[in-house]
Amino acid sequence: MAEPLRNLYDLTRSDLHALVAAWGFSPVHAARLWSYLYREGAATFDAMTELPARVRARFEGETRIGLLPVAREQRSSDGFTRKYLLGLADEARIETVLMRYSGRVTACVSSQVGCAMGCVFCATGQMGFSRHLTTGEIVAQALHVDRVLRETATEGPALAEADHPSPHHRHERLRNIVLMGMGEPLHNYEAVMRAIDILRDGTGLALGARKISLSTVGVVPGIIRLADEERPMHLAVSLHGATQAERAALVPAARAWPLDALMDACRYYVRKLDRRIFFEWTLIEGKNDGADQAHAVGRLLQGLKAQVNLIPLNPTAGYAGGPSRGEAAKQFQAVLAEYGLPSTVRQRRGIDIAAGCGQLAVGG
Ligand code: SF4
Repeated sequence: MAEPLRNLYDLTRSDLHALVAAWGFSPVHAARLWSYLYREGAATFDAMTELPARVRARFEGETRIGLLPVAREQRSSDGFTRKYLLGLADEARIETVLMRYSGRVTACVSSQVGCAMGCVFCATGQMGFSRHLTTGEIVAQALHVDRVLRETATEGPALAEADHPSPHHRHERLRNIVLMGMGEPLHNYEAVMRAIDILRDGTGLALGARKISLSTVGVVPGIIRLADEERPMHLAVSLHGATQAERAALVPAARAWPLDALMDACRYYVRKLDRRIFFEWTLIEGKNDGADQAHAVGRLLQGLKAQVNLIPLNPTAGYAGGPSRGEAAKQFQAVLAEYGLPSTVRQRRGIDIAAGCGQLAVGG
């Protein structure tokens, strides 16, 4: 069987330069190709008209531009969220979400097909784990959302009206990504970090470090490695329970990385990088949304540079719990404030198309 063509989205800029040099072409061609891929979002080699024909032919023969075809697009009724089911080369599929919150667009990107962590309330966890995504498959999701933004800016009213409140935003590019889609990003550390390096490259998409958020269920060795490598991004840690037993009931991965070890890793991260950690707390009615739980969170995080993001549970078929109602979130916040902990309640978006936190899966 023929070797699959090399995916250009797997290559960092220096990899691309090395390949171009090995083929005996000028570094100018590497720089131009990189710009075509990441500045202009070129989808074909034919579009790269400024590259000499012999350079294009070599790339066309031996590499591919690893775009992910859209198998399905769903739009939320409020127009703020779009969910894409994207096809991978091996027929596996993943979901990527475009979200608009108060004037900014964020791509919620997947890092694995399925997930091995098994959080009980999460549709991805309920699917089980199939495989890690490659760097190129992660990069391609961000580029897909970037392309949607550019196409809708020129296409006209559909997304533009909902998503571009002023004409000044008409040529918007993707500026924010969150690694909160399907999968546990720190379980696929190498591919994810390489993808982030590519997306941050200043001569390409040039995403700012502070515009990238990575959410982990608490993979302790990964958090320590992020700190040791001084990776500049926002880190979010899913807590959901403030004692080992309560947390492990919702997040089975807590058995591998117990709460004490997780908190030690978080303290190490904050100390080393002098950066705050965002702790995510899915509010489940009657389960972890009471004052006693809020006090437990307060005691656990007190003194740590931290912010708590409260996320009312989004429904999934495989979990019977429901979201907190009424004033529960506000009361929870008030208790956290007593411990000096800032908190937010996540805006619920895209629930009608199952694009909210914990709802991504490829079956439905
Ligand atoms: S919440 Fe995140 S870590 Fe947990 S099962 Fe879902 S995708 Fe995996």
